[in-house]
Amino acid sequence: SSNMAKSKFEYVRNFETDDTCLKNCYIVVRLDGRNFHRFTEQHKFTKPNDNRALGLMSRSAHSVMEELEDIVIAYGQSDEFSFVFKRTSTWFKRRASKLMTHVASQFSSSYVFYWKEFFGDQPLLYPPSFDGRVVLYPTNRNLKDYLSWRQADCHVNNLYNTVFWTLVQKGGLTTAQAEDRLKGTLAADKNEILFSEFEINYNNESALHRKGTTLIWEKRDETVTKRMKRPNEEEKEVSVTRSRKRVQAYHCDIIGEQFWEEHTDILED
Ligand code: ATP
Ligand code: ATP
Ligand code: MG
Ligand code: MG
Ligand code: MG
Ligand code: MG
Repeated sequence: SSNMAKSKFEYVRNFETDDTCLKNCYIVVRLDGRNFHRFTEQHKFTKPNDNRALGLMSRSAHSVMEELEDIVIAYGQSDEFSFVFKRTSTWFKRRASKLMTHVASQFSSSYVFYWKEFFGDQPLLYPPSFDGRVVLYPTNRNLKDYLSWRQADCHVNNLYNTVFWTLVQKGGLTTAQAEDRLKGTLAADKNEILFSEFEINYNNESALHRKGTTLIWEKRDETVTKRMKRPNEEEKEVSVTRSRKRVQAYHCDIIGEQFWEEHTDILED
């Protein structure tokens, strides 16, 4: 019978290993697009930053936050997004593989599901995928430093890419010449090239590109009018206010303390 079969074969379950995340730590899941160098070329992303693609990344991250439990903040740039689960989360018994695969598959399916909203008639040529990893951070300082590290990466790459593509698109250099020109240059040199040769002040470039995207939950009072009818009264319009939690996007500095002082409810003690 099937009962016999179950008892005979069930021992294989014991081959599963325990991947429970340590208590009290923030659980960070970072996703990164697989081979997006190729993906961006095949889908003709504008360089250095395709806003359709950035919008689609954010939309997908938004879906992850709404569909999964306990994510308190997410940060994304380029083809990557990091999701932070609250310290006290017990979702899926804190099993790393469950959390990571749910984030990765919810994100990937959303990326495909919402593609048309951002790329219109331009077809998605093949199914994209994202790798995932789990990292645990025990202190608020470690977690802030993790997010600072990703935002610093965004800054370094965006400054480089902005100068590189300006040299190509406005300066008439080939990609090889632009690469050569930038070899060994420091941030100050790159700012100087932009400013003196192209009258571009890097600080005035879009915050979305310079700072990436931070998603957090915000409480908003939402007022809706409802038609109500009480016994022996005329039907009338009544406004009902309730507090709703929704995902809000920021393109601001998260390295300094200001952001954290303005949003003290994100991190726990
Ligand atoms: P891997 O599979 O190892 O991650 P990859 O090709 O995805 O390989 P990354 O280091 O993740 O390598 O780099 C992502 C690439 O996608 C970079 O070339 C980056 O410029 C490009 N890219 C990502 N998002 C955008 C965007 N919104 N607009 C233009 N280019 C983008
Ligand atoms: P969990 O998130 O814990 O996996 P679940 O609802 O997905 O919850 P499963 O044990 O995975 O629970 O069960 C999958 C359910 O989907 C079952 O009820 C199964 O009968 C149903 N199901 C899956 N595939 C089919 C199918 N092809 N046709 C009809 N029902 C299906
Ligand atoms: Mg990579
Ligand atoms: Mg990648
Ligand atoms: Mg990447
Ligand atoms: Mg199932």
